Amino acid sequence: MKEVNADVAIIAAGPAGLAAAVAAAENGASVMVFEKSNVTGGCGNMAMGPFGVESRLQKKQIIGLTKEEAFKMHMDFNHWILMPD
Ligand SMILES: Cc1cc2nc3c(=O)[nH]c(=O)nc-3n(C[C@H](O)[C@H](O)[C@H](O)COP(=O)(O)OP(=O)(O)OC[C@H]3O[C@@H](n4cnc5c(N)ncnc54)[C@H](O)[C@@H]3O)c2cc1C
Repeated sequence: MKEVNADVAIIAAGPAGLAAAVAAAENGASVMVFEKSNVTGGCGNMAMGPFGVESRLQKKQIIGLTKEEAFKMHMDFNHWILMPD
């Protein structure tokens, strides 16, 4: 078995893992990302557009939608039949 070393090991290269990897690298850490699939991006590959509620970019656009409001809008739209977890 090959031994590898890094400051940070990220398991899964979906949007969350990749964002964590970039953040760690930007802060000077050596990073290794392990992805079980043959492509990175996870479910983000099916997404049609970024939806970062309360994100830096949203604030830059002066859009005041909160996570709680977005959650309620989404659940109302889907008649509360989704499993929110
Ligand atoms: C059909 C669809 C459309 C969507 N459209 C949008 C949209 O338009 N806008 C939007 O903002 N969001 C959208 N989303 C939601 C968005 O894609 C998810 O919120 C986002 O991908 C979640 O990211 P994640 O990194 O948490 O998980 P995931 O994207 O699920 O990534 C998990 C990763 O972990 C990997 N993995 C799992 N187990 C292991 C393991 N044991 N070892 C290594 N790797 C592993 C998987 O292969 C995958 O790459 C959509 C989701 C779907 C399903």
